[in-house]
Amino acid sequence: MPRPISATVSLPAMRHNLALARERAPGRFVWAVVKANGYGHGLSNAARGFAAADGLALVEFDGAAQLRREGWRGPVLMLEGAFEAADVEQAARERLSLVVHEERQVDWLAALERPASIEVFLKFNSGMNRLGFRHDAFRAAFARLASLAAVGRVTLMTHFANADLEGGADEAMRRFEAAAAGLEAGRSLANSAATLQLPGTHGDAIRPGVMLYGATPFGEGDARSLGLRPTMRLESRLIAVQQLEPGEAVGYGSTFRAERPMRIGVVACGYADGYPRHAPSGTPIAVDGVRTVTVGRVAMDMLMVDLGPVPGAGPGSAVELWGELVPIDAVARSSGTIGYELMCAVSQRVPVRVEDDAAG
Ligand SMILES: *Cc1c(COP(=O)(O)O)cnc(C)c1O
Repeated sequence: MPRPISATVSLPAMRHNLALARERAPGRFVWAVVKANGYGHGLSNAARGFAAADGLALVEFDGAAQLRREGWRGPVLMLEGAFEAADVEQAARERLSLVVHEERQVDWLAALERPASIEVFLKFNSGMNRLGFRHDAFRAAFARLASLAAVGRVTLMTHFANADLEGGADEAMRRFEAAAAGLEAGRSLANSAATLQLPGTHGDAIRPGVMLYGATPFGEGDARSLGLRPTMRLESRLIAVQQLEPGEAVGYGSTFRAERPMRIGVVACGYADGYPRHAPSGTPIAVDGVRTVTVGRVAMDMLMVDLGPVPGAGPGSAVELWGELVPIDAVARSSGTIGYELMCAVSQRVPVRVEDDAAG
């Protein structure tokens, strides 16, 4: 029998979240971001769940090739653009749109001999200081791109460093507007946080990612209060139960010690499955549909839970690590990270199941 752990991906929840992004930015082109293997949900599953998106955006060229092989005919946007000249060839062949954030990438386009009409998203550095051109270089790159036979439509884009904070995109917007002044082109600026709370940034095309997977882009609150549905349920089972006497400890390092007699459940899930090793005792988890907490240090293949609130539980009982009962945002916050990292970290050895409804 396989180990009882699994991740279940809900296509109806993905469709619901995509519809919500559209509702927030009516009439805009929606790029559903599917990088990092669809934020850990599986690239093919993400392409199915977001089949109603206007385009799919990612950073991996082998992923883009996979999308084409599997029949996605719509636009595909490469968010980091080309990494080498051969990527521009692939873009021309497979009709991929390219972010251009660096001079070298313009050179590769210039070197493509045949006309190709590659759609370009010219990236402005609005203050993140990671990728993109500053004011003068941005305007110069725009002019140069317009003269290239390999280049089709050019859209102006930026990526906000602080769209999740109150007023966090104001300065970035001022810089972007100044750099874009007078340039005839569409605009794409908004990630999930900006899609949800900064309508002034919606421009022509939004690029929501994490919200589509039912996690919050914000530091507080959870996705449900934003109207989003969780798209991934990480589940396993208890494989053992221990009765602890007062003073006895559980797990590596004996970091948790019972103060009273306690029933402890051992869950077949550990950091090698993608569960965060830094999750402290007290991280929320559910057993047989009842919320309880983890105790002790997360190990490679196992973690432990307090069965106090679930006296009927025993070996074989169902455990939800995150999903409907336990928001991924809550596990992330308890572990000092964000939902993004948890979903991306679900590992190869966890089988992924897909849930669909009749309409799928
Ligand atoms: C990942 C990414 C997004 C999506 O960000 P979320 O915070 O997940 O919505 C949007 N734009 C770019 C350029 C990205 O790399």
